[in-house]
Amino acid sequence: MAFDSLTEKLQNIFKNLRSKGRLTEDDVKEALKEIKRALLAADVNFKVVKDFIKKVQERAIGQDVMSGLNPGQMVIKIVNEELVELMGSETTDIQLQPGSAITVIMMAGLQGAGKTTTTAKLAGKYKLKGKKPLLVACDVYRPAAIKQLQVNGEKQGVEVFAMGENNKPANIAKAALEHARKNGHNIVILDTAGRLHIDEDMMGELQEIKEAVTVHQTILVIDAMTGQDAVNVAKEFNDKIGIDGVIITKLDGDTRGGAALSVKAVTGKPIFYAGMGEKLSDLEQFHPDRMASRILGMGDVLSLIEKAEAQIDEEKARQMTQKMKKAQFDFDDYLESMKQMRNMGGLGNIMSMMPGLGAMGGMKMKNLDDEQTAQAEKSLARIEAMIYSMTPAERRDPDLLNPSRKHRIAKGAGVDISEVNRMVKQFGEMRKLMKTFGKSARKGRLRFPF
Ligand code: GDP
Repeated sequence: MAFDSLTEKLQNIFKNLRSKGRLTEDDVKEALKEIKRALLAADVNFKVVKDFIKKVQERAIGQDVMSGLNPGQMVIKIVNEELVELMGSETTDIQLQPGSAITVIMMAGLQGAGKTTTTAKLAGKYKLKGKKPLLVACDVYRPAAIKQLQVNGEKQGVEVFAMGENNKPANIAKAALEHARKNGHNIVILDTAGRLHIDEDMMGELQEIKEAVTVHQTILVIDAMTGQDAVNVAKEFNDKIGIDGVIITKLDGDTRGGAALSVKAVTGKPIFYAGMGEKLSDLEQFHPDRMASRILGMGDVLSLIEKAEAQIDEEKARQMTQKMKKAQFDFDDYLESMKQMRNMGGLGNIMSMMPGLGAMGGMKMKNLDDEQTAQAEKSLARIEAMIYSMTPAERRDPDLLNPSRKHRIAKGAGVDISEVNRMVKQFGEMRKLMKTFGKSARKGRLRFPF
């Protein structure tokens, strides 16, 4: 993974610092000089490094040491905090339009940066969240690019809108939006044409698309392997067409990773996601704090714990159990329980984190392969899509669901009526089961299993 070499160097520097009981000003300065060298070697922008070191130095020298930490640890704490700050502090996501309004996302970037792959990865993420994305092939120069998008779209189960090579990208975008409106898509992702280098034609084309349709988010895809070039590209795109954020690809590779550390400082724009592999599921939200601790080599054990703690909202879980016992569990609760599962990082991840589930009676849940996990997640997404197509009243009162309502839901979710029937039936059975459990539990005959 990226940063390996930087991490190793930083760890050595810190080890050295920690081994000293007391730190003189010179010790700190010497360590900072080494950190500077390590960052430059990792291909972090020169000016960014200079500012970074200055900030750390100002804070580290002459600062009281917090109780519980030794001076070396104090320096690590400051470096960590400044690294987080450098990468933008907050986790920032692509902003979607409120409610059911269509969000138009334009993907831009140089050829080979990973734009088409990332477009499909993003669509998959949105689909899992119950959205209905439409991918649009605006790269009219490479027939292979249109095909690639179609193949990837199909793998993700997401519709791809293409008009071949003989249309202007701006016109394709317009037609795609029309198609999206008619077919109930709520996210439209435009895969535009890249070039080998930045050129006027490419920028002009992106500008034309922006004039033809309202683009809500312009996302630049950059390749971490290209180091500082990636950062320069980002700056130029931002100056010329204005971007809202960046997705940095190939952070899984053997790259020095400096681009990830420099982009925010140089362009002022956040990194939304990081590409961590070629598979369509290899897209991770970019968390400055977790990335900093990864770079510092403190592992992301902390982040795993944090993640679990933040997401399992105990109170919500307690309320839900109560509802289950009283058989008041409705579709809103069902949605909430799926959301909580997803927040914890998907089914595969949860299985592997659950104590005891790892190797349950030879079932080897931990080793759900990618295919099975994807399958399970797909089913969840379909259930979510159906529930999202219900009115609030229907979600609260499943008994309202008569055949005509079910037909409407099937249409809204883009599934067959038989699938809605099956889901509602299974939901009913689940409720019945809960009721039985609940009654027996109250009578003390059966302990409720939650
Ligand atoms: P485009 O020209 O910008 O549309 O780039 P593509 O989507 O065709 O990607 C170029 C190459 O980079 C392909 O071989 C992708 O599989 C690969 N790629 C894209 N994203 C990643 C990533 O995050 N990690 C790795 N290792 N490869 C990636």
